[in-house]
Amino acid sequence: MRCPSCGSVNCHIVEEVESRQKGFGFFKGCCGYLILGPIGWLCGLLGMGSGTMTKKAFWVCSHCGRKFRV
Ligand SMILES: [Zn+2]
Repeated sequence: MRCPSCGSVNCHIVEEVESRQKGFGFFKGCCGYLILGPIGWLCGLLGMGSGTMTKKAFWVCSHCGRKFRV
């Protein structure tokens, strides 16, 4: 892989985990609270992050530090 910015081949791949859960855990907690009470609320909050994580891989140039997609 060659860096599009400086042309260096000294690049390495990096994996980053991204979570998309804006308000999701809170919403789940509310549903749990309505059904099960305080225990359901806790379960809903603890359930945050499950199945909402996406893995991204990109290259980082060791020469200039630029990140770019595969
Ligand atoms: Zn570079």
